[in-house]
Amino acid sequence: MSLHGAYDDANIFAKILRGEAPCFKVYEDDVALAFMDIFPVSRGHTLVIPKRAAARNLLELPTDEVGPYMTRVQRVAQGVERALTPDGVSIFQFNGAPAGQTVFHLHFHIVPRWEGVAMGQHGKTPMADKETLAQLAKDIGAAV
Ligand code: 5GP
Repeated sequence: MSLHGAYDDANIFAKILRGEAPCFKVYEDDVALAFMDIFPVSRGHTLVIPKRAAARNLLELPTDEVGPYMTRVQRVAQGVERALTPDGVSIFQFNGAPAGQTVFHLHFHIVPRWEGVAMGQHGKTPMADKETLAQLAKDIGAAV
């Protein structure tokens, strides 16, 4: 998928937002929803998506929604830090398939990092087990 095009409301994150697909929810308010990535590149890999806009990527998010959304990204990252006490946190976001994007509803990745532990390769990691994700969502959610 290119950088520009129509928003497809059948994408998995749109389904999660509508409650048509499950997620391990970490945090939700009127602006954003945060949930566990089911193919995590590190323990605690969390995604934060905007709720209102049908934006495929950051470039399409209405400018007045960027600030409120980024506030939630920071807030969830702070919760990840408090819950899991990593040595670092990688925060990244891809725009368009050539840049690595695979789900076309805007999202930021929050990836806790530990000294000496390599991050998994994006798109090449196995699905995490549900009990682990449920516990992480609970722990991080309590710290947000
Ligand atoms: P992207 O490649 O678009 O930056 O990131 C999409 C992310 O969504 C990937 O890290 C992938 O593991 C994650 N993902 C794909 N399908 C699902 C799903 O059904 N549920 C959840 N929670 N994450 C998903």
